[in-house]
Amino acid sequence: MSEKSLGEKMKLPWNQMPIGGAMMVPGTSTEYKTGDWRIQLKPVVNHEKCVMCLLCWIFCPDVSIYRTEKTVEIDYYHCKGCGVCSSECPTKAIDMVKE
Ligand code: SF4
Ligand code: SF4
Repeated sequence: MSEKSLGEKMKLPWNQMPIGGAMMVPGTSTEYKTGDWRIQLKPVVNHEKCVMCLLCWIFCPDVSIYRTEKTVEIDYYHCKGCGVCSSECPTKAIDMVKE
């Protein structure tokens, strides 16, 4: 016995189906706190060692590092704890700390 397609269930012809796989409103990704996926370790910046080179910002795959006027900070709402920033920091200013 075959399963009914979504079109059959909704009783709509294909050209009246809602558009799927498309972002209809830009910028909605900021609403999702993907940092919730982080497990075990989070990066913590030691501001005494940080020289503001921003290599961590360049390497972070989740764009979760930002700078203020005087410091580099982590956006924990989006950081997934991969540790790349810690590995790439030339002064070892980022420690991966157990949450
Ligand atoms: S890579 Fe290290 S020293 Fe450079 S800005 Fe980031 S934390 Fe600071
Ligand atoms: S741990 Fe990974 S995701 Fe989090 S700030 Fe560092 S590089 Fe970015």
